[in-house]
Amino acid sequence: MTLLKVTGLNKRFGGVVAAKDVAFALEAGDILAIIGPNGAGKSTTFNMVSGQLRPDSGEVLLDGQPISGLAPREVWRRGIGRTFQIAQTFVSMSVAENVQMGLISWHDRIVTFGARAETLYRPEALRLLDLVGMRADADRPVRELAYGDVKRVELAIALASAPKLLLMDEPTAGMAPKERAQLMDITATIARQRKIGVLFTEHDMDAVFAHSDRILVLVRGEIIADGKPDEVRANARVKQVYLGEMGVAAAMRARRGRV
Ligand code: ADP
Ligand code: MG
Repeated sequence: MTLLKVTGLNKRFGGVVAAKDVAFALEAGDILAIIGPNGAGKSTTFNMVSGQLRPDSGEVLLDGQPISGLAPREVWRRGIGRTFQIAQTFVSMSVAENVQMGLISWHDRIVTFGARAETLYRPEALRLLDLVGMRADADRPVRELAYGDVKRVELAIALASAPKLLLMDEPTAGMAPKERAQLMDITATIARQRKIGVLFTEHDMDAVFAHSDRILVLVRGEIIADGKPDEVRANARVKQVYLGEMGVAAAMRARRGRV
C-alpha cells in the first residue's frame, strides 16, 4: 500500500495561496524531494503533512488512513517523524542521553529524578548512534560537537520513534558541502535499509539530484513537475520557471559535465 498519499491540499494565508491542489504519493523506502523558490509553499506542505497546519481542504492518508486534522503528536504516533533541532537545554547532556530522551518519549515512559534515566534505553540509543556514525561520540556532551555532527544526532533522535515516514525541512541548512553530502548519504542509506519514506526540502541542488528517487517542483503553491531527477532536469517548464531563475541550470550543466 502507498505509504503517503496527499490529495487536493489547499492552504491560503489571507490573499496568499500557499498550496493549491497539491497532490503526490510516496512509497515506503522512497526519497522524495520538494524543491521550489522561497515562498513556494514547501514548508506549508510539510506542515500540513505533519499536523502543524490544518489544510483548508484536501486529504493526507498514511497507509490508507486519513490523518489530516490530527494533532502533531498524534501524527507522530502514527509514524511520521521529523527532525527537530536539539533544544538549548539539552546541549549539556551527552549524545547518548539525547537519543535516550527520544526513546523515553516514544515509549511514553515517565522518568523521575534519581531513576535509571542514564541507563534507560542506552543499548537502543547506541544502536541508533551506530546507524548515523556517531557511536564513538556517545558520551560527549552535545555542546562539544561540530554542527554537522549535531545534525546526525538529531537524525538519530528522529529515528528513535521508528518512523515510517521522515520529514526533513531543509535538513542541511547551514552545513558545509561535505557534511551536507554525508548527512544525505546516511539518510538515504537508512531509508533504503529500513524502508522508511523520506520527504525533504533542500536548497542544495547537488544534494537533491544525487539523493532523491523523485522530485516535486512547487511554484507559488502549485506542483509544476513531478518525476524522476532526469525527467525533472529535462522538463522545459521547470527550466523556464524555476531552475533558470535560481541559476541552477548552470550548476546542473556543470554536474552533467562531470558525469
Ligand atoms: P517555502 O517553505 O517554500 O519557502 P512557505 O510554505 O513557508 O514557503 O510559504 C508559502 C507562502 O505562504 C509564502 O508566501 C509565505 O509568506 C506564506 N506563509 C507561510 N506561512 C504563513 C503564515 N503562518 N501566515 C501567513 N503567511 C504565511
Ligand atoms: Mg520553507
